Amino acid sequence: MWSIFVLKRKKVKKEWGIHSKGKSINSNYGESKRGMIVDWNGRDRLRVAIFVDVDGTLASPYRNGKRELRSSASKALEMLSDHAPLFLWSIAGPENGLRLLKEFPHLKPFVSGCYGKEEFPFNLVDNPFCIDDEEVDDAVLKCSHIIVDTFMGGKNSNQLREAAQLITQQLTNEGLSCDKS
Ligand SMILES: [Mg+2]
Repeated sequence: MWSIFVLKRKKVKKEWGIHSKGKSINSNYGESKRGMIVDWNGRDRLRVAIFVDVDGTLASPYRNGKRELRSSASKALEMLSDHAPLFLWSIAGPENGLRLLKEFPHLKPFVSGCYGKEEFPFNLVDNPFCIDDEEVDDAVLKCSHIIVDTFMGGKNSNQLREAAQLITQQLTNEGLSCDKS
């Protein structure tokens, strides 16, 4: 079982961490390996999936038709995708994630798909994890989640990278990592 943490490190540093949805981790399947799931077909059962929010988590708001990518985004997504299939999702729909991949194509190799937050078939995921900058969406609460500060552009805190490290550590500790190494 996981420890349950309250979120928002900016309030109390020691409370930063993964907020479990209260379900014990189930590690009774062993199919998926990195490289096997390049583009998920939307039907196969996933032992683990990681969802990363777009607006405020990976990218700043648009200004003059452009948005900034958090400087740690690429490293964080790479780290996470080494351990489990990773999806971009957005309350604005799958187009938002797809647009982000067009704007920043170097992220593409780490992403298995883009979804609207309300559209992902959670019944197919045994252990959903997510990183978001807000704890307001029902979809976020269905996952073991970490809330990071909202990225508005400019200086980037280290929270996204730390969140990625915490999740990969947790996956490794629970025997859920798909990492082949
Ligand atoms: Mg957001």
